[in-house]
Amino acid sequence: MRLRPAASPALFLVFMLACSSDSGTTPGPIDQVDGPLVADVAPVRALTNVRVVDPTDGSITAPRTVIVADGRIVTVGPASTTAIPEGASVVDGAGRWLTPGLIDMHVHMRAGEAESYVRAGITRVRHMWGYPTLWTLIDEIERGDRVGPAIHPLSSGIDAPPVYWPVTQLLTDPALADSLVAELAGRGYTELKIYQDLSREVYDAVVAAARARGLTWAGHKPSRVPLGHVIASGQRSIEHLGGYLGLSASALSDAVQETARRGTWNAPTLAIQDRLQNSPARADERRRIVKALFDAGAPLLVGTDSGIDVTAPGTSLVDEMAEFVRAGIPLAHVVRMATIDAARYLGLEGEVGRVAPGYRADLALFAANPLEHLEVMRTPVGVVMGDRWFALEADTR
Ligand SMILES: [Zn+2]
Repeated sequence: MRLRPAASPALFLVFMLACSSDSGTTPGPIDQVDGPLVADVAPVRALTNVRVVDPTDGSITAPRTVIVADGRIVTVGPASTTAIPEGASVVDGAGRWLTPGLIDMHVHMRAGEAESYVRAGITRVRHMWGYPTLWTLIDEIERGDRVGPAIHPLSSGIDAPPVYWPVTQLLTDPALADSLVAELAGRGYTELKIYQDLSREVYDAVVAAARARGLTWAGHKPSRVPLGHVIASGQRSIEHLGGYLGLSASALSDAVQETARRGTWNAPTLAIQDRLQNSPARADERRRIVKALFDAGAPLLVGTDSGIDVTAPGTSLVDEMAEFVRAGIPLAHVVRMATIDAARYLGLEGEVGRVAPGYRADLALFAANPLEHLEVMRTPVGVVMGDRWFALEADTR
């Protein structure tokens, strides 16, 4: 997100505190604090009698039994004929709908918020601004010491002054781009975060250095770099519809066509932008742009920008999905964006994003058909992450 300097000190302070500490506290608008989630761990698990939602085509199966072993889906078979392996832990899924775990593709998640994502069925996130202790959080979650979604981190933002956020990588001399990119690569980042005020010369130098080192780059359209140049340079994603707003109809049409032709992703973060700007006209314009991108076949990402105390971590993914629906995109397509398409962006096609044999067991279970009732996706009744099952609702049936 972009903040004018005058608007940023409070958020800056919150963000800085989040970066410098790992207190586990969760400031901001959180929907629920029900105590720590505890996993039921089992090497083999069967979810019986579930209806399986396939985001590929929006289809829903008759009742199935889904077997998970060693963190992967091994069987999706008819409930009436699929044998449950001996010793399997069984989740009764009768009257439930099973989807792939959801993916929030634009977050600034802090440690204390990690669990909120899992409670909302989000098993994976793209983290848009790396910082040193983020790697600790990633390790804690990977080891299972903390409940949270798998994190795919971008580097901290590369920008020119003014500084909006802590841990900004300031860069004004194109000659220093390669050493900065090398340093970020050495810290483990594979995708660079482009930010707001880079000059075109520095932008080009960062792009060249990233290409030379096999890294990708994504993020803002810098205000001084034309949208067409950002797209042509090969930036993987553009956040917040930077560069698309305020264009004439013909310029927008050209930009949309070029975006689709190059396969540039957009993460429009509609819900948080609405909340920050509170302008119905702007909100309409953003939704029209998103629909135009969708109609042109340009890839879209569902991302919330949560973690800066404006939207609720986790459940705000449904707010964002609702904005996409309001833009005129069918809900089944939006669910696809938040699962399979996001997995494709993350290089996990065939691994994540479907409930099918061979896929990782990243799953969310719902009490109603999510393709008919978007709101039900705020409150999954349970989540599977590998060999772990998180029951999120007392089963009163
Ligand atoms: Zn952001």
